[in-house]
Amino acid sequence: MQTPYDPQNVFARILRGEIPCQKLHDDEFALAFPDIRPQAPIHILIIPKGPYVDAAHFAQTASNDEIAGFWRAVGLMVAQCGAGTNGFRLIANSGEYGGQEVPHFHIHLLGGAPLGPMLSR
Ligand code: AMP
Repeated sequence: MQTPYDPQNVFARILRGEIPCQKLHDDEFALAFPDIRPQAPIHILIIPKGPYVDAAHFAQTASNDEIAGFWRAVGLMVAQCGAGTNGFRLIANSGEYGGQEVPHFHIHLLGGAPLGPMLSR
């Protein structure tokens, strides 16, 4: 069963303007801003505007317009930050086993240097 959306999560608060962020992109469907604890020279978070807990919740219940709008914003950020040239990684941590800290669906866009293996033990 899907975990209920917590409207007090930090990204919901950023979307409501209660917590500041450096807006890199903002449109009807998505907001992008730098991760506060960057794990690579480029580390951008892209979040949908709607209340989705994780990637599966978004993929299963968002409208086609929301899904298209969100992924267009991801593509735009890849182009804008220059990570497309040498490569990049997209990560969507989901749930407890996925190590998700903030329960509002988000994509990490990482790049700017070799990122190493996909998973480390
Ligand atoms: P995850 O583990 O996938 O849920 O990642 C959540 C990410 O959100 C972490 O990389 C945090 O550093 C980042 N984060 C938490 N609070 C903020 C904030 N106020 N502004 C920007 N990034 C944040």
